[in-house]
Amino acid sequence: MSTPKIDFAGLKAQYARIKPEIARRIQTVLDHGQFILGPEVSELETALAKRAGTKHAIGVSSGTDALVMALMAEGIGTGDAVFVPSFTFTASAEVVLLLGATPVFVDVDPHNFNIDTNDLDRRVSEVAREGKLLPRAVIAVDLFGQPADYGVLENLCRRHALYLIADAAQSYGAKLGNRAVGALAHTTAASFFPAKPLGAYGDGGALFTDDDERTAHYKSIRAHGKGTDKYDIVRLGLNARLDTLQAAILLAKLDVFDDELAAREKLARAYDARLKDKVEIPHRVPDSVSAWAQYCILVDDRDTVAKRLKEAGVPTAVYYPLPMHLQTAYARFGQGPGSLPISERLSQRILALPMNPYLTVEQTDYVCTSVAAAVQ
Ligand SMILES: *Cc1c(COP(=O)(O)O)cnc(C)c1O
Repeated sequence: MSTPKIDFAGLKAQYARIKPEIARRIQTVLDHGQFILGPEVSELETALAKRAGTKHAIGVSSGTDALVMALMAEGIGTGDAVFVPSFTFTASAEVVLLLGATPVFVDVDPHNFNIDTNDLDRRVSEVAREGKLLPRAVIAVDLFGQPADYGVLENLCRRHALYLIADAAQSYGAKLGNRAVGALAHTTAASFFPAKPLGAYGDGGALFTDDDERTAHYKSIRAHGKGTDKYDIVRLGLNARLDTLQAAILLAKLDVFDDELAAREKLARAYDARLKDKVEIPHRVPDSVSAWAQYCILVDDRDTVAKRLKEAGVPTAVYYPLPMHLQTAYARFGQGPGSLPISERLSQRILALPMNPYLTVEQTDYVCTSVAAAVQ
């Protein structure tokens, strides 16, 4: 049997499909020349908000900037505690430290990899009891595209008077019950980094909220803290605008996004069916639709399995090899090895398989056969 060429994320195949529309959209921007906050940015914001079912979407320069802006608008800083899952991408923790606040790392669910709300509740109570830091916000991460447990999080945040921020860098397009990601937290931060399910051809992100005042605040922060006039500076801000060119590219990609989400779901189901007896497959969050940023399995001796798959021509990736509480830059905010056992164990066993909406049936078969052989 010949070895089919397997691509991890499918961006080349996607480009082949939407090439004319990408070219047309880019050409329009080059012709009108409004490279900063041009008409494509507001067109995209309207389309994103409509899909999410939120009153507002605000295009920004990256998912990281979206998160930092969400915290800035709440005035979060020194002396404040922000609760973050330890098993996540570094940006979820970094933004807390950038503002001088203290990250409190929380463990995750061993099966769907999202924040463990029981552990969160315990840690919030502990911080409140100690009285050294003021519990202010939770950053819930929708890891690999599956929404966190927002029903429980909403109640918990109300009980403890915490602001709920969804780190939806991997989950724009997902749903929980009849609500879409964007409408599940007080503020939601999305990323359009090229490899995310909805990716630009460079950095980009968005904030989602129903709150008019915060929307004005976010728009001010993304343009240096401007007031009604550009040179009237009313608060500390950033240069955090979404490029018009990236908005144009995202508009072209939105045309095929639903179709791609369906293809991701189909691939995930094929993996489930073929792999469930060979490896631990990801558990579904009940009553949810994932955006399938990644399909991650759990295996013992992960590095050997990854090496064998590489030899077979199947690309894999490790998200994430080290939890945040053990990272050199953040370790002083954690309690060391053994303190968040689920996050630590997942980091050793997790392995992401190709998640590519353009994988053929033959390629999918090949990946599954190769995984089964690699874990023998
Ligand atoms: C990608 C990612 C981010 C950061 O998004 P950027 O657009 O790259 O800044 C934040 N959180 C998580 C969970 C991510 O996966």
